[in-house]
Amino acid sequence: MNIALIAHDTKKELMVQFCIAYCGVLSKHNLCATGTTGKMVAEATGLNVQRYLSGSQGGDQQIAARISCNEIDLLLFFRDPISVKPHEPNDMNLLRLCDVHNIPVATNIATAEALIHALERGDLDWRDIVNPTKI
Ligand code: PGA
Repeated sequence: MNIALIAHDTKKELMVQFCIAYCGVLSKHNLCATGTTGKMVAEATGLNVQRYLSGSQGGDQQIAARISCNEIDLLLFFRDPISVKPHEPNDMNLLRLCDVHNIPVATNIATAEALIHALERGDLDWRDIVNPTKI
């Protein structure tokens, strides 16, 4: 499965802790992330993370492009609902594209926990059936 990670600045440490906790599950999948999020996760966990540009440089749009092509199977996007900065990724476009392709998406750690257990159990395996050609 292709998993995309994005975290707003105030949620990056939470994303790192989440990835440390679920390193074993995540290591079985292909990870990609916006620049800073990916760097922090890779350094903290040793996981192999394909890093796109930083969010402020359009990294979220690079991930959105992959979502548009239905190449992402799970999006973990820890967003800050209180103090989002102007340069931080716009969630509506990403979430809309996930809805277009029925891509499971978590915008907070509570849902991410549920989805990561679902992933581990194989509940998301249908993604491989509906979209066998993805990279
Ligand atoms: P980053 O992108 O991981 O490169 O910081 C996300 C953001 O801008 O919040």
